[in-house]
Amino acid sequence: MKCTIHSEHGSIMVIPREDSMVRLYIQIASSTDADWNPKKTATESQVQESAKRILQPYSIEWERVEWYSVYPIGQGISERYTLDQRVFLGGDACHTHSPKAGQGMNTAFLDALNLAWKIHAVESGFADRHLLETYESERKSVAESLLDFDNRYAKLFSERQPAASEVQAASSGEPHENEFIKTFKEACEFTSGYGVAYGANCLNWSPNHPAQSPLMHPKGTKLRPGSIFINADVTRVVDANVIHLEQEVPLNGSFRIFIFAGNPCVSRQALLDFANGLSGARSFYAAYTRPDVDKVSHHEIHNPHSLFFTLCTVLASKRSRIEISRDVPDVLARYRDHVYADDIWDRRVPNAKAAAHAKMGLDEEKGGVVVVRPDGYVGVVASLVEGSGTVDALNDYFSAFCAKKFS
Ligand SMILES: Cc1cc2nc3c(=O)[nH]c(=O)nc-3n(C[C@H](O)[C@H](O)[C@H](O)COP(=O)(O)OP(=O)(O)OC[C@H]3O[C@@H](n4cnc5c(N)ncnc54)[C@H](O)[C@@H]3O)c2cc1C
Repeated sequence: MKCTIHSEHGSIMVIPREDSMVRLYIQIASSTDADWNPKKTATESQVQESAKRILQPYSIEWERVEWYSVYPIGQGISERYTLDQRVFLGGDACHTHSPKAGQGMNTAFLDALNLAWKIHAVESGFADRHLLETYESERKSVAESLLDFDNRYAKLFSERQPAASEVQAASSGEPHENEFIKTFKEACEFTSGYGVAYGANCLNWSPNHPAQSPLMHPKGTKLRPGSIFINADVTRVVDANVIHLEQEVPLNGSFRIFIFAGNPCVSRQALLDFANGLSGARSFYAAYTRPDVDKVSHHEIHNPHSLFFTLCTVLASKRSRIEISRDVPDVLARYRDHVYADDIWDRRVPNAKAAAHAKMGLDEEKGGVVVVRPDGYVGVVASLVEGSGTVDALNDYFSAFCAKKFS
Protein backbone atom coordinates (compact mmCIF):
# COMPACT_ATOMS: atom_id res chain seq x y z
CA MET A 1 0.00 0.00 0.00
CA LYS A 2 1.24 3.51 -0.75
CA CYS A 3 2.35 5.08 2.53
CA THR A 4 4.96 7.24 4.24
CA ILE A 5 6.93 6.12 7.26
CA HIS A 6 8.58 8.60 9.62
CA SER A 7 11.00 7.79 12.41
CA GLU A 8 13.74 9.57 14.31
CA HIS A 9 16.18 8.31 11.64
CA GLY A 10 14.35 9.85 8.68
CA SER A 11 11.48 9.01 6.37
CA ILE A 12 10.59 6.51 3.66
CA MET A 13 7.86 6.78 1.08
CA VAL A 14 6.56 3.42 -0.17
CA ILE A 15 4.98 3.11 -3.62
CA PRO A 16 3.79 -0.28 -4.93
CA ARG A 17 4.93 -1.07 -8.48
CA GLU A 18 4.25 -3.61 -11.22
CA ASP A 19 5.45 -7.26 -10.96
CA SER A 20 5.25 -7.28 -7.13
CA MET A 21 8.00 -4.68 -6.92
CA VAL A 22 7.99 -1.72 -4.57
CA ARG A 23 9.64 1.68 -4.92
CA LEU A 24 11.16 3.17 -1.77
CA TYR A 25 12.13 6.82 -1.47
CA ILE A 26 14.69 6.59 1.32
CA GLN A 27 16.00 9.66 3.09
CA ILE A 28 19.78 9.45 3.48
CA ALA A 29 20.48 12.95 4.74
CA SER A 30 18.69 16.09 5.84
CA SER A 31 19.44 19.77 5.25
CA THR A 32 19.46 20.11 9.07
CA ASP A 33 22.49 17.76 9.35
CA ALA A 34 25.71 19.41 10.54
CA ASP A 35 27.63 17.96 7.55
CA TRP A 36 24.83 18.63 4.99
CA ASN A 37 26.02 18.54 1.41
CA PRO A 38 23.47 18.68 -1.43
CA LYS A 39 25.91 16.80 -3.69
CA LYS A 40 26.16 13.91 -1.22
CA THR A 41 25.99 10.54 -2.90
CA ALA A 42 25.70 6.98 -1.53
CA THR A 43 26.21 3.40 -2.63
CA GLU A 44 23.35 0.96 -2.95
CA SER A 45 24.26 -0.73 0.35
CA GLN A 46 24.52 2.61 2.19
CA VAL A 47 20.99 3.45 1.03
CA GLN A 48 19.79 0.04 2.21
CA GLU A 49 21.43 0.60 5.61
CA SER A 50 19.59 3.90 5.87
CA ALA A 51 16.28 2.13 5.14
CA LYS A 52 16.99 -0.47 7.80
CA ARG A 53 17.64 2.23 10.41
CA ILE A 54 14.45 4.13 9.55
CA LEU A 55 12.30 0.99 9.69
CA GLN A 56 13.53 -0.20 13.12
CA PRO A 57 12.23 -2.15 15.02
CA TYR A 58 11.03 -3.80 11.80
CA SER A 59 13.51 -5.33 9.39
CA ILE A 60 13.83 -5.37 5.63
CA GLU A 61 15.84 -7.51 3.18
CA TRP A 62 16.12 -7.27 -0.62
CA GLU A 63 15.75 -10.18 -3.04
CA ARG A 64 17.10 -7.94 -5.78
CA VAL A 65 17.35 -4.23 -6.62
CA GLU A 66 15.86 -3.34 -9.99
CA TRP A 67 17.16 0.24 -10.03
CA TYR A 68 18.60 2.74 -7.62
CA SER A 69 19.61 6.35 -7.79
CA VAL A 70 20.57 9.18 -5.42
CA TYR A 71 19.20 12.68 -5.91
CA PRO A 72 18.83 15.84 -3.85
CA ILE A 73 15.35 17.26 -3.31
CA GLY A 74 15.47 20.90 -4.13
CA GLN A 75 12.92 23.46 -5.11
CA GLY A 76 13.84 25.79 -7.88
CA ILE A 77 12.36 27.72 -10.74
CA SER A 78 14.19 29.59 -13.44
CA GLU A 79 13.61 33.29 -13.84
CA ARG A 80 12.97 33.03 -17.57
CA TYR A 81 11.61 30.18 -19.69
CA THR A 82 12.73 31.76 -22.93
CA LEU A 83 15.31 33.98 -24.50
CA ASP A 84 13.55 36.33 -26.94
CA GLN A 85 11.09 33.58 -27.95
CA ARG A 86 13.92 31.80 -29.76
CA VAL A 87 15.41 29.54 -27.10
CA PHE A 88 13.01 27.84 -24.70
CA LEU A 89 13.44 25.91 -21.46
CA GLY A 90 11.09 23.19 -20.25
CA GLY A 91 10.95 20.33 -17.74
CA ASP A 92 13.52 19.91 -14.96
CA ALA A 93 15.75 22.48 -16.65
CA CYS A 94 13.44 25.21 -15.35
CA HIS A 95 11.55 23.80 -12.35
CA THR A 96 12.35 21.18 -9.72
CA HIS A 97 10.50 20.12 -6.59
CA SER A 98 10.07 17.08 -4.37
CA PRO A 99 8.85 13.89 -6.08
CA LYS A 100 6.06 13.46 -3.49
CA ALA A 101 3.32 14.66 -5.80
CA GLY A 102 4.68 12.66 -8.76
CA GLN A 103 4.53 15.74 -10.95
CA GLY A 104 8.00 16.25 -12.44
CA MET A 105 7.52 14.33 -15.65
CA ASN A 106 3.84 15.24 -15.93
CA THR A 107 4.72 18.91 -15.75
CA ALA A 108 7.58 18.46 -18.22
CA PHE A 109 5.22 16.79 -20.71
CA LEU A 110 2.72 19.62 -20.38
CA ASP A 111 5.50 22.18 -20.90
CA ALA A 112 6.39 20.40 -24.14
CA LEU A 113 2.76 20.13 -25.24
CA ASN A 114 2.09 23.80 -24.51
CA LEU A 115 5.13 24.88 -26.52
CA ALA A 116 4.93 22.41 -29.41
CA TRP A 117 1.57 23.47 -30.82
CA LYS A 118 2.45 27.16 -30.47
CA ILE A 119 5.72 26.74 -32.39
CA HIS A 120 3.80 24.79 -35.03
CA ALA A 121 1.13 27.52 -35.24
CA VAL A 122 3.73 30.28 -35.64
CA GLU A 123 6.08 28.46 -38.00
CA SER A 124 3.24 27.40 -40.28
CA GLY A 125 2.07 30.99 -40.61
CA PHE A 126 -1.17 30.53 -38.65
CA ALA A 127 -0.36 32.64 -35.60
CA ASP A 128 1.49 35.84 -34.76
CA ARG A 129 4.89 35.39 -33.19
CA HIS A 130 3.66 36.99 -29.95
CA LEU A 131 1.66 33.79 -29.30
CA LEU A 132 4.97 32.29 -28.14
CA GLU A 133 5.03 34.74 -25.21
CA THR A 134 2.14 32.82 -23.68
CA TYR A 135 4.40 29.78 -23.19
CA GLU A 136 6.39 31.37 -20.38
CA SER A 137 3.45 33.14 -18.76
CA GLU A 138 1.25 30.02 -18.77
CA ARG A 139 3.79 27.38 -17.83
CA LYS A 140 5.77 29.43 -15.31
CA SER A 141 2.65 30.21 -13.31
CA VAL A 142 1.79 26.48 -13.25
CA ALA A 143 5.28 25.67 -11.93
CA GLU A 144 4.93 28.41 -9.29
CA SER A 145 1.60 26.97 -8.10
CA LEU A 146 3.13 23.50 -8.09
CA LEU A 147 6.06 24.64 -5.96
CA ASP A 148 3.71 26.42 -3.58
CA PHE A 149 1.54 23.31 -3.36
CA ASP A 150 4.61 21.10 -2.93
CA ASN A 151 5.73 23.25 0.03
CA ARG A 152 2.37 23.04 1.75
CA TYR A 153 2.04 19.32 1.07
CA ALA A 154 5.50 18.52 2.43
CA LYS A 155 4.86 20.74 5.49
CA LEU A 156 1.57 19.04 6.26
CA PHE A 157 3.23 15.64 6.24
CA SER A 158 6.21 16.70 8.31
CA GLU A 159 4.24 18.69 10.90
CA ARG A 160 1.57 16.16 11.73
CA GLN A 161 0.78 12.70 10.43
CA PRO A 162 -2.76 12.40 9.05
CA ALA A 163 -4.97 10.08 11.06
CA ALA A 164 -6.27 7.01 9.22
CA SER A 165 -9.79 8.48 9.47
CA GLU A 166 -8.64 11.63 7.63
CA VAL A 167 -7.12 9.64 4.78
CA GLN A 168 -10.36 7.66 4.55
CA ALA A 169 -12.43 10.86 4.61
CA ALA A 170 -10.32 12.48 1.89
CA SER A 171 -10.84 9.62 -0.52
CA SER A 172 -14.53 9.11 0.23
CA GLY A 173 -15.66 12.71 -0.35
CA GLU A 174 -16.39 13.54 3.31
CA PRO A 175 -18.26 16.89 3.43
CA HIS A 176 -16.36 18.27 6.48
CA GLU A 177 -12.99 19.22 5.11
CA ASN A 178 -9.96 20.06 7.20
CA GLU A 179 -6.59 21.31 5.94
CA PHE A 180 -5.28 17.81 5.27
CA ILE A 181 -8.34 16.72 3.28
CA LYS A 182 -8.32 19.95 1.25
CA THR A 183 -4.65 19.60 0.35
CA PHE A 184 -5.02 15.89 -0.43
CA LYS A 185 -7.78 16.72 -2.92
CA GLU A 186 -5.63 19.44 -4.44
CA ALA A 187 -2.91 16.80 -4.88
CA CYS A 188 -5.36 14.65 -6.85
CA GLU A 189 -6.19 17.62 -9.08
CA PHE A 190 -2.52 18.21 -9.82
CA THR A 191 -1.81 14.55 -10.42
CA SER A 192 -4.73 14.22 -12.83
CA GLY A 193 -3.85 17.46 -14.65
CA TYR A 194 -7.19 19.07 -13.79
CA GLY A 195 -5.51 21.46 -11.34
CA VAL A 196 -3.96 23.44 -14.20
CA ALA A 197 -5.75 26.71 -14.95
CA TYR A 198 -4.08 29.23 -17.23
CA GLY A 199 -4.68 32.93 -16.70
CA ALA A 200 -6.33 35.33 -19.12
CA ASN A 201 -4.38 36.17 -22.29
CA CYS A 202 -4.99 36.34 -26.04
CA LEU A 203 -5.89 32.62 -26.07
CA ASN A 204 -7.91 32.40 -22.86
CA TRP A 205 -10.82 34.78 -23.16
CA SER A 206 -11.67 37.22 -20.33
CA PRO A 207 -13.65 40.47 -20.25
CA ASN A 208 -10.36 42.26 -21.05
CA HIS A 209 -9.80 40.28 -24.26
CA PRO A 210 -9.87 42.32 -27.51
CA ALA A 211 -12.90 40.24 -28.62
CA GLN A 212 -15.71 42.15 -26.97
CA SER A 213 -18.85 40.56 -28.44
CA PRO A 214 -21.73 40.33 -25.94
CA LEU A 215 -22.11 36.71 -27.09
CA MET A 216 -18.89 35.72 -25.31
CA HIS A 217 -19.04 33.55 -22.23
CA PRO A 218 -22.83 33.10 -22.05
CA LYS A 219 -24.42 33.20 -18.62
CA GLY A 220 -24.44 29.82 -16.91
CA THR A 221 -21.51 28.27 -18.74
CA LYS A 222 -19.41 26.05 -16.49
CA LEU A 223 -16.46 26.08 -18.87
CA ARG A 224 -13.58 28.33 -17.87
CA PRO A 225 -11.20 29.73 -20.48
CA GLY A 226 -7.72 28.48 -19.59
CA SER A 227 -9.03 25.30 -17.92
CA ILE A 228 -9.35 21.83 -19.40
CA PHE A 229 -12.49 21.01 -21.43
CA ILE A 230 -15.13 19.24 -19.31
CA ASN A 231 -15.49 15.46 -19.91
CA ALA A 232 -18.69 14.31 -21.56
CA ASP A 233 -19.94 11.11 -23.17
CA VAL A 234 -22.05 11.32 -26.34
CA THR A 235 -23.09 8.96 -29.14
CA ARG A 236 -21.32 9.19 -32.49
CA VAL A 237 -24.13 9.33 -35.03
CA VAL A 238 -22.51 7.42 -37.92
CA ASP A 239 -21.70 4.26 -35.95
CA ALA A 240 -23.68 4.55 -32.68
CA ASN A 241 -20.55 4.25 -30.54
CA VAL A 242 -20.59 6.02 -27.19
CA ILE A 243 -17.42 8.10 -27.03
CA HIS A 244 -15.58 10.50 -24.73
CA LEU A 245 -16.02 13.81 -26.51
CA GLU A 246 -12.85 15.36 -25.07
CA GLN A 247 -10.76 12.56 -26.61
CA GLU A 248 -12.20 12.60 -30.12
CA VAL A 249 -9.79 15.01 -31.78
CA PRO A 250 -6.12 14.00 -31.60
CA LEU A 251 -3.36 16.36 -30.51
CA ASN A 252 -2.53 17.42 -34.05
CA GLY A 253 -2.19 21.19 -33.78
CA SER A 254 -5.85 21.89 -34.64
CA PHE A 255 -8.23 24.05 -32.65
CA ARG A 256 -11.30 21.95 -31.85
CA ILE A 257 -14.53 23.83 -32.34
CA PHE A 258 -17.38 22.10 -30.53
CA ILE A 259 -20.72 23.29 -31.81
CA PHE A 260 -23.28 22.35 -29.18
CA ALA A 261 -26.20 22.76 -31.53
CA GLY A 262 -29.04 22.51 -29.01
CA ASN A 263 -32.40 21.17 -30.12
CA PRO A 264 -32.43 21.03 -33.95
CA CYS A 265 -36.09 22.15 -34.00
CA VAL A 266 -35.14 25.33 -32.12
CA SER A 267 -31.63 26.07 -33.38
CA ARG A 268 -31.83 25.02 -37.06
CA GLN A 269 -31.53 28.57 -38.41
CA ALA A 270 -28.74 29.54 -35.99
CA LEU A 271 -26.77 26.45 -37.00
CA LEU A 272 -27.29 27.22 -40.68
CA ASP A 273 -26.20 30.84 -40.20
CA PHE A 274 -23.13 29.70 -38.29
CA ALA A 275 -22.19 27.26 -41.07
CA ASN A 276 -22.73 29.94 -43.73
CA GLY A 277 -20.59 32.36 -41.74
CA LEU A 278 -17.76 29.83 -41.51
CA SER A 279 -17.84 29.34 -45.27
CA GLY A 280 -17.75 33.10 -45.93
CA ALA A 281 -14.47 34.26 -47.49
CA ARG A 282 -13.62 36.58 -44.57
CA SER A 283 -14.08 34.05 -41.78
CA PHE A 284 -11.23 32.76 -39.62
CA TYR A 285 -12.13 29.27 -40.85
CA ALA A 286 -12.07 29.99 -44.59
CA ALA A 287 -8.90 32.07 -44.23
CA TYR A 288 -6.94 28.94 -43.34
CA THR A 289 -8.32 26.56 -45.97
CA ARG A 290 -5.89 23.82 -46.92
CA PRO A 291 -4.09 24.57 -50.20
CA ASP A 292 -4.87 20.99 -51.30
CA VAL A 293 -8.53 21.11 -50.23
CA ASP A 294 -9.76 19.76 -53.59
CA LYS A 295 -7.55 16.71 -53.34
CA VAL A 296 -8.22 15.74 -49.72
CA SER A 297 -9.17 12.10 -49.31
CA HIS A 298 -12.75 11.15 -48.55
CA HIS A 299 -11.32 9.29 -45.54
CA GLU A 300 -9.82 12.39 -43.90
CA ILE A 301 -11.89 12.78 -40.74
CA HIS A 302 -10.22 15.54 -38.71
CA ASN A 303 -8.93 18.12 -41.18
CA PRO A 304 -10.84 17.95 -44.47
CA HIS A 305 -10.91 21.75 -44.97
CA SER A 306 -8.22 23.24 -42.76
CA LEU A 307 -5.14 21.92 -40.98
CA PHE A 308 -5.85 24.27 -38.07
CA PHE A 309 -9.45 23.46 -37.22
CA THR A 310 -11.66 20.45 -36.56
CA LEU A 311 -15.40 20.98 -36.24
CA CYS A 312 -17.50 18.75 -33.96
CA THR A 313 -21.29 19.10 -33.88
CA VAL A 314 -23.28 17.86 -30.88
CA LEU A 315 -27.07 17.82 -31.29
CA ALA A 316 -29.32 17.74 -28.22
CA SER A 317 -31.36 14.92 -29.65
CA LYS A 318 -31.60 11.14 -29.61
CA ARG A 319 -29.37 9.49 -32.18
CA SER A 320 -32.31 7.75 -33.83
CA ARG A 321 -33.90 11.13 -34.58
CA ILE A 322 -30.84 12.63 -36.25
CA GLU A 323 -30.48 12.62 -40.02
CA ILE A 324 -27.13 14.22 -40.81
CA SER A 325 -28.06 15.30 -44.35
CA ARG A 326 -31.19 17.02 -43.02
CA ASP A 327 -30.08 18.36 -39.62
CA VAL A 328 -26.44 19.31 -40.15
CA PRO A 329 -25.32 21.95 -42.68
CA ASP A 330 -22.81 20.78 -45.31
CA VAL A 331 -19.65 22.34 -43.90
CA LEU A 332 -20.25 20.62 -40.56
CA ALA A 333 -21.62 17.43 -42.11
CA ARG A 334 -18.32 16.94 -43.96
CA TYR A 335 -16.99 15.99 -40.51
CA ARG A 336 -19.48 13.11 -40.41
CA ASP A 337 -17.36 11.23 -37.82
CA HIS A 338 -17.63 14.27 -35.57
CA VAL A 339 -21.41 14.55 -35.47
CA TYR A 340 -22.78 13.40 -32.13
CA ALA A 341 -26.07 12.86 -30.33
CA ASP A 342 -26.20 14.22 -26.80
CA ASP A 343 -28.32 11.32 -25.52
CA ILE A 344 -26.22 9.68 -22.79
CA TRP A 345 -27.50 10.03 -19.23
CA ASP A 346 -24.97 11.39 -16.75
CA ARG A 347 -25.29 11.07 -12.98
CA ARG A 348 -23.76 14.53 -12.48
CA VAL A 349 -26.74 16.13 -14.24
CA PRO A 350 -29.41 13.46 -13.65
CA ASN A 351 -32.35 15.61 -14.76
CA ALA A 352 -30.82 16.91 -17.97
CA LYS A 353 -32.27 15.87 -21.33
CA ALA A 354 -28.95 16.64 -23.01
CA ALA A 355 -26.29 15.84 -20.42
CA ALA A 356 -23.24 17.09 -22.33
CA HIS A 357 -24.89 20.47 -22.95
CA ALA A 358 -25.89 20.63 -19.27
CA LYS A 359 -22.43 19.70 -18.01
CA MET A 360 -20.93 22.52 -20.05
CA GLY A 361 -23.60 24.84 -18.64
CA LEU A 362 -24.96 25.52 -22.15
CA ASP A 363 -28.63 26.00 -23.00
CA GLU A 364 -30.07 22.58 -23.94
CA GLU A 365 -32.37 24.18 -26.52
CA LYS A 366 -30.16 26.88 -28.03
CA GLY A 367 -26.68 25.40 -27.52
CA GLY A 368 -23.41 27.33 -27.76
CA VAL A 369 -19.98 27.14 -29.39
CA VAL A 370 -16.83 26.16 -27.51
CA VAL A 371 -13.36 26.75 -28.92
CA VAL A 372 -10.85 24.34 -27.42
CA ARG A 373 -7.15 25.01 -27.96
CA PRO A 374 -5.01 22.32 -29.61
CA ASP A 375 -3.74 21.28 -26.15
CA GLY A 376 -7.25 20.66 -24.79
CA TYR A 377 -7.78 23.87 -22.79
CA VAL A 378 -10.85 26.01 -23.34
CA GLY A 379 -10.18 29.21 -25.29
CA VAL A 380 -13.59 30.81 -25.48
CA VAL A 381 -17.31 30.02 -25.27
CA ALA A 382 -19.88 31.90 -27.36
CA SER A 383 -23.66 31.76 -27.72
CA LEU A 384 -25.04 30.20 -30.89
CA VAL A 385 -27.40 32.77 -32.40
CA GLU A 386 -29.18 33.47 -35.67
CA GLY A 387 -27.36 35.87 -37.98
CA SER A 388 -23.62 36.47 -38.21
CA GLY A 389 -23.00 37.19 -34.49
CA THR A 390 -21.38 33.90 -33.50
CA VAL A 391 -18.90 33.81 -36.38
CA ASP A 392 -18.21 37.56 -35.91
CA ALA A 393 -17.39 36.87 -32.25
CA LEU A 394 -15.01 34.05 -33.18
CA ASN A 395 -13.44 36.20 -35.91
CA ASP A 396 -12.59 38.74 -33.20
CA TYR A 397 -11.27 36.03 -30.90
CA PHE A 398 -8.94 34.54 -33.54
CA SER A 399 -7.87 38.00 -34.74
CA ALA A 400 -6.22 38.47 -31.33
CA PHE A 401 -3.45 35.98 -32.16
CA CYS A 402 -3.76 34.82 -35.78
CA ALA A 403 -1.42 36.17 -38.45
CA LYS A 404 -4.46 37.14 -40.54
CA LYS A 405 -7.16 39.47 -39.23
CA PHE A 406 -10.86 38.93 -39.84
CA SER A 407 -12.86 42.08 -39.18
C1 LIG B 1 13.49 9.17 -8.04
C2 LIG B 1 12.60 10.00 -8.89
C3 LIG B 1 11.27 9.64 -9.04
C4 LIG B 1 10.43 10.39 -9.83
N1 LIG B 1 9.11 10.02 -9.97
C5 LIG B 1 8.29 10.73 -10.75
C6 LIG B 1 6.93 10.35 -10.91
O1 LIG B 1 6.45 9.38 -10.33
N2 LIG B 1 6.14 11.11 -11.74
C7 LIG B 1 6.64 12.18 -12.40
O2 LIG B 1 5.89 12.83 -13.14
N3 LIG B 1 7.93 12.55 -12.26
C8 LIG B 1 8.77 11.86 -11.45
N4 LIG B 1 10.08 12.25 -11.31
C9 LIG B 1 10.57 13.43 -12.00
C10 LIG B 1 10.91 13.15 -13.47
O3 LIG B 1 11.79 12.06 -13.60
C11 LIG B 1 11.54 14.39 -14.09
O4 LIG B 1 10.79 15.52 -13.74
C12 LIG B 1 11.58 14.26 -15.61
O5 LIG B 1 12.41 13.18 -15.97
C13 LIG B 1 12.11 15.56 -16.24
O6 LIG B 1 12.28 15.37 -17.62
P1 LIG B 1 13.25 16.29 -18.44
O7 LIG B 1 13.16 15.80 -19.85
O8 LIG B 1 12.94 17.72 -18.16
O9 LIG B 1 14.70 16.05 -17.84
P2 LIG B 1 15.55 14.71 -17.81
O10 LIG B 1 14.69 13.50 -17.73
O11 LIG B 1 16.58 14.93 -16.76
O12 LIG B 1 16.22 14.68 -19.25
C14 LIG B 1 17.32 15.49 -19.57
C15 LIG B 1 18.22 14.68 -20.50
O13 LIG B 1 19.23 15.54 -21.02
C16 LIG B 1 20.45 14.84 -21.01
N5 LIG B 1 21.53 15.85 -20.98
C17 LIG B 1 21.94 16.62 -19.96
N6 LIG B 1 22.94 17.42 -20.35
C18 LIG B 1 23.15 17.17 -21.65
C19 LIG B 1 24.04 17.70 -22.63
N7 LIG B 1 24.91 18.66 -22.32
N8 LIG B 1 23.97 17.21 -23.88
C20 LIG B 1 23.08 16.25 -24.21
N9 LIG B 1 22.21 15.72 -23.33
C21 LIG B 1 22.24 16.17 -22.07
C22 LIG B 1 20.39 14.01 -19.75
O14 LIG B 1 21.28 12.91 -19.83
C23 LIG B 1 18.93 13.55 -19.78
O15 LIG B 1 18.75 12.36 -20.52
C24 LIG B 1 10.94 11.53 -10.49
C25 LIG B 1 12.29 11.89 -10.35
C26 LIG B 1 13.11 11.14 -9.55
C27 LIG B 1 14.56 11.54 -9.42
